[in-house]
Amino acid sequence: MASALHYSDALISGILRRVRTIAMVGASPNWKRPSNFAMKYLQEKGYRVIPVNPRAAAGGVSILGEPACASLADVPAPVDMVDIFRGSDAALEVTREAIRLREEKRIEVVWMQLGVRNDEAAAEAVAAGLTVVMDRCPKIEYGRLSGELGWGGVDSGVISSRRPRLKLASGEKEIEMSEEATQETGSEADTDWGFETRMIHAGAGPDPVSGSRQTPIHQTSAYAFHDADHAASLFNLQTFGFIYSRLGNPTVATLEERIASLEGGRGATCAASGHAAQVLAFFPLIEAGERFAASNRLYGGSVTQFSRTFPKFDWRCDFVDTEDLSAVEAVLAQGAKALFVESLANPGGVVTDLETLAGLTRAAGALLIVDNTLATPWLCRPFEWGADLIVHSATKFLSGSGTVIGGAVVDSGRFDWAASGRFPGLSEPEPAYHGLKFSETFGDLAFTVHSHAVGLRDLGASMAPMNAFLTLLGTETLALRMERHCRNALAIAEWLTEHPKVEWVSHAGLPTSPYCELAKKYLPNGAGAVFTFGVRGGYDAGVKVVEACELFSHLANIGDARSLIIHPASTTHRQLTDEQRAAAGAGPEVVRLSIGLETVDDLIRDLDRALAAA
Ligand code: PLP
Repeated sequence: MASALHYSDALISGILRRVRTIAMVGASPNWKRPSNFAMKYLQEKGYRVIPVNPRAAAGGVSILGEPACASLADVPAPVDMVDIFRGSDAALEVTREAIRLREEKRIEVVWMQLGVRNDEAAAEAVAAGLTVVMDRCPKIEYGRLSGELGWGGVDSGVISSRRPRLKLASGEKEIEMSEEATQETGSEADTDWGFETRMIHAGAGPDPVSGSRQTPIHQTSAYAFHDADHAASLFNLQTFGFIYSRLGNPTVATLEERIASLEGGRGATCAASGHAAQVLAFFPLIEAGERFAASNRLYGGSVTQFSRTFPKFDWRCDFVDTEDLSAVEAVLAQGAKALFVESLANPGGVVTDLETLAGLTRAAGALLIVDNTLATPWLCRPFEWGADLIVHSATKFLSGSGTVIGGAVVDSGRFDWAASGRFPGLSEPEPAYHGLKFSETFGDLAFTVHSHAVGLRDLGASMAPMNAFLTLLGTETLALRMERHCRNALAIAEWLTEHPKVEWVSHAGLPTSPYCELAKKYLPNGAGAVFTFGVRGGYDAGVKVVEACELFSHLANIGDARSLIIHPASTTHRQLTDEQRAAAGAGPEVVRLSIGLETVDDLIRDLDRALAAA
């Protein structure tokens, strides 16, 4: 298999800024085809696009106001770029024609569309002095680099603190592709921004209208259209922009790009809660009557969601011990389309062997979906170990102060929906969008665009802009907070292991933990701040410890700046069976702590007093 293609932002933006006239080979007069979308979009951005389509030319047809040409030779010069909207096999012939006409037409660039790649043609074109881009859409690249694509939660990779300039185009205000953000550096490499820089800047440049440096809270339900054609283009998914805040909102989109960037994903979709994000994650994947598998060590609410509520959609979940690899293989062989795990499991201090599980799901043609809520991308990056999707409850450490209910699903962009054929929602024609195929039109953005345009549209569990804003503030300090959370938690876990009233402590950072080695591999920055311990005296003692705390708050949440305590068996895991509770590490004697950012000695004193009372 050919290796993945990488083109630097400098190269792509340099092409898109230099080029004025594009010959689009394979442009279709049918407004429902991706080539027609791309042509219309590029025309609106000021490019002259000349269609090359022999059949349309023979019939004397004009496409979007431009008479079709029968061949490249018929296109009036100059042609800066030849954009190939034909199959990969046809690309060689078109490229050879472009090489032949290079001098005469002053052609500089051969660009092959999403899904079109011909390495032989590329090598010949490069040898002839042409610049080549393959398997990319100029419309998507323009949208990404100009910041427009932010509406879909896509990670543009662009970071800049300069205020974008507005330009006036045909009487409308339009954002110019930011020269500052995409300046050609002379080097082909993209800037490799550090995690802490992306925590603060990813997705969020100054507002182009007001200059506001902090992200505005776009507290609006809907967005004005320029005219009927603009509205139609938005509803057809032909152009990028906002329609209605159930499908997308600029503040929420900023957070989506931030989370996608921190996870190293292609795009993200925020949701009203972590649970809503889980529904969104499965929605494009699982049809009625189909199955997925999930680890039996999960947050209790997820076990209930998968086992009690999902069956009402006829989505079937098989719970499996993910440390028993043959059991995982068996459940995948029975047709599970995805495996859902938590990287660091709630409540137990359990670390999941992501790389091994990703090997099994890949071999079975299934997806690995990782709930990375407890770890956050600062501690663990599941895409680096082969995960396909990540879900988050933004309610926890991402927002970090117990202010928000929110969630996100992040797509790696690496699963090939079209080649798999198992996920028709993403690869087959979508009737509600005039038969477009998401994988064909949006390539590796397919999942993220689908999650907004279909998932949020119909499930309606969208994140509120204020919650997105508060979560954005949280992400700005994520690494700093996680370091302190982890340091405090480890100190308390060590102290508890010595306490006479404590039977055991389950914290993956302790050398005695069976997960210590996995923690070193997957959680090199710290083993998290949520963990459990067993109190001598069982259920009643567990309840008493919780009730006797003064500084720890007794409540059903985790990932707050405040330290939190709960007795899972009587609360979060109450709705589970005894067996499910035992598998999830929530037996009768178990107390769960979520360690906050307070002075660690104060936390230890509080626990000491509470244990004495028990
Ligand atoms: N995943 C994990 C690991 C959780 O701990 C939680 C909530 O506690 C969720 C998902 C669900 O998130 P939310 O409460 O935001 O719906």
